[in-house]
Amino acid sequence: MAVPYEKIPFAGTVPSPKKENEGMITGNWRTRRPVLDTEKCTQCQICWISCPDSSVNLMTEDSPITFNLKYCKGCGICSEVCPVGAITLVPELDFKD
Ligand code: SF4
Ligand code: SF4
Repeated sequence: MAVPYEKIPFAGTVPSPKKENEGMITGNWRTRRPVLDTEKCTQCQICWISCPDSSVNLMTEDSPITFNLKYCKGCGICSEVCPVGAITLVPELDFKD
């Protein structure tokens, strides 16, 4: 039976809290930030299931895949597993926010 993704616990492959946990913030470790090329993305969701920090947010009707930068530590796994090269890790110093 198919389970809507909204019903799946927080985290794709690693046991973790069902909601965000302020005590587990790892976004301040990040030196590189994942950036999505929406033209290349096929919405296969491999990045979502592979992120160890549940920092990939699935696409919605109104939005493409996004990254939860509060928890994304910039490990680059999402970029490595993406079969079409749709995620690039960009140095944090290239961003103003
Ligand atoms: S793995 Fe790549 S193609 Fe698949 S959803 Fe993620 S960004 Fe898109
Ligand atoms: S860089 Fe690492 S922590 Fe950030 S979204 Fe990709 S897999 Fe998750």
